[in-house]
Amino acid sequence: MDKKRLKISFLGGAGTVTGSKTLLEFDQKRVLIDCGLFQGLKELRNLNRAPFPVSPDTIDVLVLTHAHLDHCGYIPLLVKNGFKGEIHCIDSTAELAEIILRDSAKIQEEDAERAARYNYSRHAKPEPLYTTQDVLQALKLFVTHSYNEWVILHPGIKFQFLNNGHILGSGFVEMKLSDTTFLFSGDIGKMQPMLLYPPKKVKHADYIVLESTYGDRLHDKADVKEELQTVIEEVWDNKGILMIPSFAVERTQELIYILYLLKEEGRLPALPIYLDSPMGINSSKVYIRYKEEQNIPSDILHHMYDQVHFISDAEASKRICLDNAPKIVLAGSGMIEGGRIIHYLNNHMDNPRNTLLFVGFQGEGTRGRAIQNGSREIKFFGEYHDVKCKIRSISSLSAHGDQNDLLEWLKNFKSEPNTIFLNHGEPHQTDALRVKIEHELGWNCETPKMNDTYILEIE
Ligand SMILES: [Zn+2]
Repeated sequence: MDKKRLKISFLGGAGTVTGSKTLLEFDQKRVLIDCGLFQGLKELRNLNRAPFPVSPDTIDVLVLTHAHLDHCGYIPLLVKNGFKGEIHCIDSTAELAEIILRDSAKIQEEDAERAARYNYSRHAKPEPLYTTQDVLQALKLFVTHSYNEWVILHPGIKFQFLNNGHILGSGFVEMKLSDTTFLFSGDIGKMQPMLLYPPKKVKHADYIVLESTYGDRLHDKADVKEELQTVIEEVWDNKGILMIPSFAVERTQELIYILYLLKEEGRLPALPIYLDSPMGINSSKVYIRYKEEQNIPSDILHHMYDQVHFISDAEASKRICLDNAPKIVLAGSGMIEGGRIIHYLNNHMDNPRNTLLFVGFQGEGTRGRAIQNGSREIKFFGEYHDVKCKIRSISSLSAHGDQNDLLEWLKNFKSEPNTIFLNHGEPHQTDALRVKIEHELGWNCETPKMNDTYILEIE
């Protein structure tokens, strides 16, 4: 059979965990897998304002693995700059992406507005990357699917989503280009996710594009419930406030689930619990609607949200934020890059009685990472603020599989792939996974850098 040329380019999420974008060029078609926003370090964030490597109007179709901002957050800008194709994803991903993109636009609009008002931006007139209007335009292009449903994009190009246990609606993309199979991992969940079904065991692919966020690490095997209980007891003893910067999607619902289990077991002190996050609330409502995609009994799924006060109203949020009474607050954003958590920190992080609890990965360059690394002052609203509260972390809560999970998942393959491209990791994470795969499986790995392109001869 004749060989055909395929070009694969890593336009983001290579050598970094943000900005995921992988472009396939095959048979006159351009297919983009994910379209994420660069986050964290300023030099990465600036890439969001750089011209897109190919003209967006020449991309035929976008396939979205899940709703996280680092995978979907650039979509409104792609559309604004001329992309007119369909955006394919799982049903619940479309609902979550709408919540996340609207929030992203709002944060950018507010930041630009605040920067202009206080004149602390070095840009003459701070412009948001995109607006709510741009998000609404992008949402019109979404086409939704179920798992395990083949979608024909073009004669010779088809794909299906397979559950990968990362967040609600997330999936591997198994794509057939002519007779060659590509497997894009998106972000892979743990082999035993807390709320979702385990990642699908895949047996064959000619090429794999595999994430490596935790390629160099093993998750703490500590019992999350125990860890959370210990932190809460300390907060209770100190009559303090527990502030949890939480990702609105998956992490918030996991925490609510653990808090529910602790309460059912009589292990939770009588502290009120607030979910002070419009995005967290809206996401939780999507989780309540898509019960069948979750691996926990529906009665628990329904009742676990009862004990939590949902605060979406801004006035109520202000009142609770100014109040010094002991409580547990979950608020976004997860890496303290924006959102209501900043207001809580503004009011409560200078008091050693209070606790700031990290429950997830903190990206390089974020305020969360700075505090975790011991920084005792952080900058927001154009000023520096002292960090005097207690800092705690629970590392075993992660929506990503660790090195063992990734290897265990790879061992399901019955045949050796031609190549595994490792992406979505900082260089030391990616390289540690490469060494491990080469050592344990002897498979050929590539570790593409940003904007690297490979020409493959496929059948
Ligand atoms: Zn993700």
